[in-house]
Amino acid sequence: MKIPESGDPYLEGHKCGSCGAMYLGARSVCSKCGARDQMQLTRLAKTGKLYAYSIVHRTFPGIEVPYISAVVDLDDGATLKGNLIGIDPDPAKIKFDMPVEVVFADALGRKDREGNSYLSFFFKPKA
Ligand SMILES: [Zn+2]
Repeated sequence: MKIPESGDPYLEGHKCGSCGAMYLGARSVCSKCGARDQMQLTRLAKTGKLYAYSIVHRTFPGIEVPYISAVVDLDDGATLKGNLIGIDPDPAKIKFDMPVEVVFADALGRKDREGNSYLSFFFKPKA
């Protein structure tokens, strides 16, 4: 995740200059087309569709449950895992393929030792 001095934070990915495949982590060889050293840094899409989710009821102490762990296919082809917020953790309300957007917020109220909030990204149902 990148936080520019001005403007909105964004997620950064690596795009193959040869075939356009998207990757989150840095790599030098495209596993889709085999192109070498063609990776370009790019901003990831801010919208996508819910691919999979699970409702988490048990986790580490101090983290509020239940929450929704989701996998989202971004509109640019990258796949991202994160928490889904802004919707009840109720399977009857969560639809596969529903449109979501990437939002940035404090990471569940967690603070570091200096008391700074962690900024993290979440998925939120798109209105
Ligand atoms: Zn490629």
